[in-house]
Amino acid sequence: MKVLVTGANRGLGLALVQQGLAQGHIMFAAVRSVADQHIKGLQQLKASFEGQLRILHMDVTNEKSIKQAADAVKWTDQYLDVVINNAAVLNEREAKIEELDIQACSHAFDVNTLGPLRVVKHFLPLLKVGLEERVSDTQAILNISSEAGSITNTGPLDYPYGMSKAALNMLTEKLKRYLQQDDITVICIHPGWMQTDMGGNQAPKDPNETAANLYNLLVRSRNTEPYSFVDDLGQQMPL
Ligand code: NDP
Repeated sequence: MKVLVTGANRGLGLALVQQGLAQGHIMFAAVRSVADQHIKGLQQLKASFEGQLRILHMDVTNEKSIKQAADAVKWTDQYLDVVINNAAVLNEREAKIEELDIQACSHAFDVNTLGPLRVVKHFLPLLKVGLEERVSDTQAILNISSEAGSITNTGPLDYPYGMSKAALNMLTEKLKRYLQQDDITVICIHPGWMQTDMGGNQAPKDPNETAANLYNLLVRSRNTEPYSFVDDLGQQMPL
């Protein structure tokens, strides 16, 4: 498969790239900065998987950079099978509403909700070419969401993150309906609490375990996934 992962330089994104390469996929690792110190993990992978790994510059808040990345993929590789919208920010976590920094809230929406929207806008044509090519029998958009985006998650804080992920879940529902006829699977996933910069080192899960589960889920769901929002094992999550 040809797989795009956003936010691919660390955390779950890097684990998804690593596992994808090990499984023989062609991986497009999209990163906010291509400066050497920013992409050390990817450069190490590149040494072992030279022909399989393409590193793309993409800030998901910058539509121009996304379009340029899509044009580059079209030029070198013609099509894609899977888009994984993984990049996200978690900010203002403990802020009460009276203290919220609205600029920070706006940034969370820009990255967590509008980022995936922009990416799908520019990469959907490449998924549709992939559909015509039928080299792989999996065509999918995976939006990495969070249980924090569930409307049943009624904690008093976490405004920007929870709201932006709830809106991502809405985007997923809309895309799922829009792309049903095309046989493109669209799901949002709660990956679990993972040991990453975002999750912290108390988290119980290794992102590599989640990444492996997500590839299993991709193969299992093969355009037949009934639910829009699931955990990494495919169990339904409440929207
Ligand atoms: P990290 O904070 O470890 O990594 C976030 C990634 O997003 C980084 O690669 C970062 O790049 C990238 N990113 C942030 N802003 C932008 C931007 N404007 N453009 C492009 N890339 C950007 O997060 P995790 O790996 O933990 O999280 C992965 C996904 O899983 C996220 O969607 C998150 O919401 C979700 N999730 C995580 C949980 C956890 O416990 N960790 C729990 C539930 C959900 P850079 O290095 O350049 O900043």
